[in-house]
Amino acid sequence: MSGHLHAAPEPSVTVRTPGKVNLVLRSGAVRDDGYHPLSTVFQAVSLFEEVTATHVAPGAGISLTVSGPQADVVPLDETNLAWRAALAVADHTGLDADVALHLHKGVPVAGGMAGGSADAAAALVACDALWGAGLSRHDLTVLAAGLGADVPFALLGHTAVGTGRGDVLTPVLTRGEFHWAFAVQAEGLSTPSVFARFDELSAAGVSAAGADRAAGPTPLDGEMAGGVDPGRSPDPGDDAELMAALRAGDPTALGEALHNDLQAAALDLRPELGQVLEVAREAGALGTLVSGSGPTIAALARSRRHALAVAAAWTTADVVASVWTATGPAPGARITG
Ligand code: ATP
Repeated sequence: MSGHLHAAPEPSVTVRTPGKVNLVLRSGAVRDDGYHPLSTVFQAVSLFEEVTATHVAPGAGISLTVSGPQADVVPLDETNLAWRAALAVADHTGLDADVALHLHKGVPVAGGMAGGSADAAAALVACDALWGAGLSRHDLTVLAAGLGADVPFALLGHTAVGTGRGDVLTPVLTRGEFHWAFAVQAEGLSTPSVFARFDELSAAGVSAAGADRAAGPTPLDGEMAGGVDPGRSPDPGDDAELMAALRAGDPTALGEALHNDLQAAALDLRPELGQVLEVAREAGALGTLVSGSGPTIAALARSRRHALAVAAAWTTADVVASVWTATGPAPGARITG
């Protein structure tokens, strides 16, 4: 082969990663290390982040630009998860962290849909490819877990059970396509604040349940804490009906099986979300829930058309900042250019 056929390294690499909705999210009580043991089922949806990594001069370091809706609220410094992902690849490989990153955001910011995690996953794959680091899927997954509990799923995509902190993944078999509408609020909710309220509600619920138990069982037993038993780690085996609905491609059964232990905490912090849920139910949503730690509300619809109708009902009721529709499952990280 003549020399000129050895192409120069690509000047840039673009990677696309999906946002997610948690079809079910069960949390145990906070552990000593500050984490909550989770059992969750992620579904990647067709709202995508796009990260482009471009070569820069040696020694130029990392730089970051952002475009898309809500770009103005995304940090542009080393606190950005994509920046941290580039550093993680450099640290792991010993390569110089010289790259210009551009993020195009298609996932709502601070909405409980893991947009920042999707950026981190995309930046890992993009820097690996740009720098010719040759990291294995396993290496990338380990680096991803080090960046955040939701990052490995953005690499994997589709539908998966997450245990541990949500980062230990098992793919789930699904059939067909599910249609979603998302109601996005003007102001995000921070995940730690939602877990903190969850802990407070759980503690209150446990002592209330304890008092109730002394007086005999009541129908509310377990309700106040969202059904959380602090002594027990959540178990994906509890979600057999949800798994069956996914396997069968049955949106009605899936709608009935949606569940989020963090919903009470998110609603407590943002009572107005109750109306958003109500409007979706009135519009015939098959199921509704707070997405992840919120404040985005996800509604499962019968069809693409029905998802648009749910979105229109939110807009008419004037209860949201923006509405988005998407389908799931969607693929994980992919090099697109
Ligand atoms: P999760 O569902 O994983 O809790 P989220 O979807 O609620 O995440 P993100 O959009 O991922 O929230 O970002 C939450 C916060 O993280 C933002 O308010 C922002 O300050 C910070 N952040 C760090 N990196 C990014 C990024 N690449 N994109 C958006 N926000 C980022």
